Amino acid sequence: MSTLLVKNIHTLVMMDPARQELSNGAIFVRDHVIEQVGLTSDLPQSADEVLDLQNRHIVLPGLVNTHHHFYQTLTRVVPAAQNCDLFNWLTTLYPIWANLTAEGVYISAQMAAAELILSGCTTASDHLYIYPNDCTLDSEIQAVQAIGMRFHASRGSMSVGESLGGLPPDSLVEKEIDILNDSQRLIEQYHDHSRHAMLRMTLAPCSPFSVSQDLMRESAAMARAYPGVRLHTHLAENTSDVEYSLATFGLIPGDYAESVGWLGEDVWHAHCVQLSDDSIAKFGRTGTGVAHCPCSNMRLASGIAPIRKMLNHRVPVGLGVDGSASNDTGNLLQEARSAFLVARVRDCDAAAMTARDVLELATIGGARVLGRDDIGTLAPGMSADFIAIDLDRPSFAGALHDPVAALIFCHTGSVDYSFIHGRKVVDQGHLTTVDLPVLVEKANNYAVQMLDIAITR
Ligand code: ZN
Repeated sequence: MSTLLVKNIHTLVMMDPARQELSNGAIFVRDHVIEQVGLTSDLPQSADEVLDLQNRHIVLPGLVNTHHHFYQTLTRVVPAAQNCDLFNWLTTLYPIWANLTAEGVYISAQMAAAELILSGCTTASDHLYIYPNDCTLDSEIQAVQAIGMRFHASRGSMSVGESLGGLPPDSLVEKEIDILNDSQRLIEQYHDHSRHAMLRMTLAPCSPFSVSQDLMRESAAMARAYPGVRLHTHLAENTSDVEYSLATFGLIPGDYAESVGWLGEDVWHAHCVQLSDDSIAKFGRTGTGVAHCPCSNMRLASGIAPIRKMLNHRVPVGLGVDGSASNDTGNLLQEARSAFLVARVRDCDAAAMTARDVLELATIGGARVLGRDDIGTLAPGMSADFIAIDLDRPSFAGALHDPVAALIFCHTGSVDYSFIHGRKVVDQGHLTTVDLPVLVEKANNYAVQMLDIAITR
């Protein structure tokens, strides 16, 4: 048993039901679980490990990222894909992604996780849907376990290639029986349904234009046979996606999802930029979640998701940076600020999204989307996942009368401390679990090699 005390917190955002924000707060942790939260003067004065923040930091629950493709860290800003919309962007990048190997999966997962953690993320979901060469999801899981981030690994898949009317090349799709067998293997090997679990599994056929309705139904049946295994896919990302659904299935995306059994509290869909009003109402009634990825949606000119309308219908919404090749950053604080700004632009309403609204999406919103009641809030019995940001820096100057709002209005930088599962993974702005310069060099070398092979093919 070990204990941790973080004390003299300038502003402590609990994100509890009463939305308490404490001045001179403290957190007391035993092993990986929060035991007490309150004023520094009311909490134990000693612990095995003590961090005195000297009244300079804002502390809040670790942010939750609900949609990503870590492997795309290796193909950011590819010149031919810089100015493409979704389908052209995908068809430009598929041939490069075909060069991905297990080593690339491992390096990119650590690179993406490092970037996320430094921007405040403590729990992330990732969606790996291509398995060329020797790629498996195991490499990604091992990489994330080594860096120490709480992780929801999605066994993605593509089974409908060009010759069957899908978007991806035939060489990148898998047989459905192989996908299902590997999905079952991964669930049985890795899925941990216990409270405070560091690793859970999700089944995630990639999108309506790359998998069959059979695979959607069978994946749903398999996931639902195991407690806590969730379902995730892309839906209604842009107008071409809607047109594909209408032409191929005769259904708009929300009705397509319903027809294959993909509405429910155990399902969350990425993007939903072009979700109809009826579908939004259905999502709300069924508790179907949405991963809102505003930077990717702007970058690919997909549109702006109607998040205020979704929240009014009680749709669970979390934030996602989406893949690093369609953002092209993996900064979750920046994503939160973008979500905050773009909601106002969409509705021409400066009150459509407040700073505190978007912090809710980034914490408890994401936790709910991932089906978790043990993260997103700082309270006794919750997992010890929290971040600290030093307010004594240029981006907060002149804003200390409301540091909580300033975190969204003014700051898109990095965190100074991050604790995940009670372990200090960022210390004074530096990752403690990986040698970052070495990792960046490996990622750069691998990315060059991946592009070179694609060009010389
Ligand atoms: Zn995506």
